[in-house]
Amino acid sequence: MDGRAFKTISPATEEVLAEVTEAGPADVDRAVSAARQAYEHTWSRLPGAERAKYLFRIARIVQERARELAVLESLDNGKPIRESRDVDIPLVAAHFFYHAGWADKLEYAGYGPVPRPLGVAGQVIPWNFPLLMLAWKIAPALACGNTVVLKPAETTPLTALAFAEICQQADLPPGVVNIVTGAGETGRALVTHPGIDKVAFTGSTEVGKEIARACAPSRKKLTLELGGKAANIVFEDAPVDQAVEGIVNGIFFNQGHVCCAGSRLLVQESVYAEVLAALRRRLETLRLGDPLDKNTDVGAINSAAQLAKIRELSEVGEAEGAQRWSPPCELPVKGFWFPPTVFTGVSQAHRIAREEIFGPVLSVLTFRTPAEAVEKANNTPYGLSAGVWTEKGSLILWMASRLRAGVVWANTFNKFDPASPFGGYKESGYGREGGRHGLEAYLDV
Ligand code: NDP
Repeated sequence: MDGRAFKTISPATEEVLAEVTEAGPADVDRAVSAARQAYEHTWSRLPGAERAKYLFRIARIVQERARELAVLESLDNGKPIRESRDVDIPLVAAHFFYHAGWADKLEYAGYGPVPRPLGVAGQVIPWNFPLLMLAWKIAPALACGNTVVLKPAETTPLTALAFAEICQQADLPPGVVNIVTGAGETGRALVTHPGIDKVAFTGSTEVGKEIARACAPSRKKLTLELGGKAANIVFEDAPVDQAVEGIVNGIFFNQGHVCCAGSRLLVQESVYAEVLAALRRRLETLRLGDPLDKNTDVGAINSAAQLAKIRELSEVGEAEGAQRWSPPCELPVKGFWFPPTVFTGVSQAHRIAREEIFGPVLSVLTFRTPAEAVEKANNTPYGLSAGVWTEKGSLILWMASRLRAGVVWANTFNKFDPASPFGGYKESGYGREGGRHGLEAYLDV
């Protein structure tokens, strides 16, 4: 060990939860060597059916330890236990089950009769869905026969460390999964390491671009899942109450710390007043507070830095002339908190309509025709997701074929499934995760 350590705190109380090792270049080097050894001598030589057994075992252990993992995730991240218990952890198990199913069927995936793994994958993940992002990265890599070195985010390392324990519990051969904890420097040491064959990154567009530049002169295969500024589009024939639930889920789920969050609401002008009134009524019922209380809807902001960014952009929104509204809501004294916030009177030029706020802040715009909705929705450097609310199936198809977004949800939002590929257009990144398409990122094709 290089010997340094950092503290990880509960964003809800600012209490120190644990001290965690900060991996330096020598640690990263050791982890990459361990992954290489395991790749050459063990993992890539195992038949797919044998690799599948380990993945099934990991999935089962995640299910068995689901409560513990959900509590740990909510403590370290600040997200409501209802979400970590009902969304994050079940999806983690689902990803391992799904990819266990692929491990012995790769020759049927459409990538040739004997698709080969790439080698050692260096993976860097963010803090918004710590264990779920780990599962998105590790499950397909292992299923395809690669070994991995993964760095969790500095503010949320605990479930990744619990996962390392789960790998031991599953008797996974040593070196197949390596977790290195640390901050951005550790991530940089990992993605620039010459012993890595593939880099997978989820996080900000800024860091994604830096990684793309660092990988460009090498032969490393790269996938990037970056930011978003999704449009959630409500047409006049949409059932209002259902759409309001989708709007709330789209932007207030996980405090809006979601790359595919529906952070721009586009409402057809004829139903604007009705939708806004219903949305405000609904927001008055949201409960903000203790992430470990199962009645909590909105938890803590993940870090002081993220809170400062949300505050700053919200102030910019007001200064640019948009109207700010939040339901009456008492914020806890300790910890990092921001109330659910809605901006109306937003124009496309406003920064709050263009930049990823990554918090519980919704910008509302209007449109008159489907063509105008498409134009506004696509008027962004991002292209990760979009939502369409209408009773007309033909309109859904018309919109979906014109929206430049990797995922288009119809009459729902933020629905995830391991069988469904996820990824972006434009500055939201490249490559897909999940489904048959996601395997391509970990195969030499
Ligand atoms: P980052 O992109 O900085 O962090 C993502 C991961 O990359 C973390 O593990 C981070 O480590 C690591 N990292 C940071 N710098 C480097 C580097 N140079 N080389 C390799 N790895 C690196 O996101 P932030 O947490 O700083 O959030 C900033 C903004 O990014 C947010 O406000 C939000 O707008 C956006 N974001 C988007 C996400 C998405 O899924 N689309 C996810 C997270 C953030 P460490 O955490 O230790 O710094």
